[in-house]
Amino acid sequence: MIETLKTIALHWAHSFQVEMIRYLFGAAGVALTYWLLRRWTASRRIQQRTATMADRRRELRLSVQTIAIFGVVNLITFAAIGAGIVRIGHTPDLAILAAQLIVMVIAHDAYFYWMHRGLHLRAMFRRAHAAHHVSRTPTSWASYAFAPIESVTEALYVPVLLIGMSQVAPIQPLAVFIFLGHQIARNAIGHSGHELAWSGFTKSRWTGWLTTTTHHDLHHSEGRYNFGLYFTWWDRMMGTEHPRYHEKFEAVAAHVKASPELVTA
Ligand SMILES: [Zn+2]
Ligand SMILES: [Zn+2]
Repeated sequence: MIETLKTIALHWAHSFQVEMIRYLFGAAGVALTYWLLRRWTASRRIQQRTATMADRRRELRLSVQTIAIFGVVNLITFAAIGAGIVRIGHTPDLAILAAQLIVMVIAHDAYFYWMHRGLHLRAMFRRAHAAHHVSRTPTSWASYAFAPIESVTEALYVPVLLIGMSQVAPIQPLAVFIFLGHQIARNAIGHSGHELAWSGFTKSRWTGWLTTTTHHDLHHSEGRYNFGLYFTWWDRMMGTEHPRYHEKFEAVAAHVKASPELVTA
């Protein structure tokens, strides 16, 4: 019994450590890079309002709480691996790695969109998602600034998907590592408050399917649109893309001196 509790505590502590490093890599990495490049990034700020230090402290505090909860949910993955429900591929296989990575990213985008729509339902919003929306002007520190219920729903994706994919082929650990790195990078950039993409990005057939920072920033400043994560597909399909998304994006990306109503409050 004591040994089991010790193993659980060790797994949790290991998860906490790894998730914390990943969060700091994304949140602090983006904050530091944008600060170092501030001559260039300053003109690319999306909102006129600036986030305060108190905003950043709140985002950091909630993110650390989320990372502790991620550690608990990750115990499901450890248990599933221990029980052989999640099979790990010990021989690297590039084709399987690529296929698993693509599936993980596309399925995560779909999972996030529908989970996020669910969190915006009247019955859920206040208890599960309002904490994330306190950040009207988000910073990269808000990447994991969730209420406990959202922390659980966000984290459950990993064990559910790994169990599902394991039925087809053993999991390539590197695919999971790249997926999680991509997740935190897109998440931290999406909350950074600065638009680094170029004019025409949102309308091009080559790039328009990718979400931009303006896309998620508008979700924070206005709330009712842009629920997607990595891709614009679901918002376009379900009619939830912000009606002035392209216009608001261009106001920042094209360095157009925006009229006051174009700049989000
Ligand atoms: Zn939301
Ligand atoms: Zn957000």
